[in-house]
Amino acid sequence: MPGGQSPTQAGINTRLAHIGYEPGSYFGFVNPPVVHASTVLFPNARTMAARDQKYIYATHGTPTTEALSGAIDELEGSAGTVLVPSGQAAVALPLLAFLSAGDHALITDSVYAPTRQFADLVLRRMGIEVEYYEPRIGAGIKRLLRSNTKVVFTESPASNTFEVQDISAIARVAHAGDAVVMMDNSWATPLFFRPLDHGVDISIHAATKYPGGHSDLLLGTVSTNAATWPRLWEMFLTLGIPAAPDDTYQVLRGLRTMGVRLAHHQKSAIEIASWLEHQPGIARVLNPALPSHPDHAVWMRDFSGASGVFSIVLAAGSQSHAFLDALEIFGLGFSWGSYGSLAMQVDLSDRIVADGVFEGPLIRLQIGIEDIEDLKRDLARGLRATTRAGRPGFDQSVL
Ligand SMILES: *Cc1c(COP(=O)(O)O)cnc(C)c1O
Repeated sequence: MPGGQSPTQAGINTRLAHIGYEPGSYFGFVNPPVVHASTVLFPNARTMAARDQKYIYATHGTPTTEALSGAIDELEGSAGTVLVPSGQAAVALPLLAFLSAGDHALITDSVYAPTRQFADLVLRRMGIEVEYYEPRIGAGIKRLLRSNTKVVFTESPASNTFEVQDISAIARVAHAGDAVVMMDNSWATPLFFRPLDHGVDISIHAATKYPGGHSDLLLGTVSTNAATWPRLWEMFLTLGIPAAPDDTYQVLRGLRTMGVRLAHHQKSAIEIASWLEHQPGIARVLNPALPSHPDHAVWMRDFSGASGVFSIVLAAGSQSHAFLDALEIFGLGFSWGSYGSLAMQVDLSDRIVADGVFEGPLIRLQIGIEDIEDLKRDLARGLRATTRAGRPGFDQSVL
């Protein structure tokens, strides 16, 4: 770091501005090179036989991937980070690395839907027993642990319904058994929650979201403690799924401004969520940063901030499509974490044990960095359309 200051002493935005790459390592250029590569040449046969040089083949890393994975390691406090082509690949990779036929895996029931799809389609086919648990189970997960439970998978706050898990309690109990604890930490980013500090072994991110921040790439990161790193790294190399150089570079670029962007997302999202609680047509707002949220105390204890994604429950009888179609600034689209606001209706039909019963349609909002008064006006427009078009008892089950 410039000035010789230890990066861990500096504030988060200072660290984000400089971590991962030292300009002096590449002719003083402020940013690292985007290395497009497969082959790396060795100077002689001895070096090649011993693989005795820093880079040996691009699947193992390049100066570009090293800059980003080094930056993520600093943020997560991890021993190693691999970069894969999507958040979904970042979920699949550690599950494949740590589960074998005959094993038992515990997965939170309010998990990101494609994670469930991977577990149901691939893990079950491999002969792994998959069991979904109530996200607020905490230390109660003890009664579900078996001698063959090898993985406990967490995600907090939950996708779409935003239950907050007691991660430390779950990790403590899981480690008393022999399970590896994984967490999908995409919502909080390492700025607002550091899973390894709470006993998690492996932290997973859809870097597609806030780290990328611009809806223009897909990338996933998997960060581990020292004990789980060798097995994760071995599976990463074996599957052959390294992230592409341009996307890797763009995520590092995104990280530089992520603190500033998140501060804005946070401020706008909390203000809008609080405002929405008092608007006609709204039954409930599901955002752990609000005092009304059932897990607010756990969130306050463990998290240092809130990102810009939360859900609203429209009043019973509301017509969700009228709400969505009336929005002019909020785009209708999947994903989140980018500069633009988004809305989508949530389908909870895959939930098994988690509470999936709400007063009316559930809408997930991603609050972008547009001006807050414009966003409020847009949401008010949507709510007016809902109540105008809605007839009590109208079929809410569409979607
Ligand atoms: C989006 C998302 C993913 C998957 O990321 P992609 O890059 O879109 O594959 C994984 N987990 C969570 C919680 C997500 O929101």
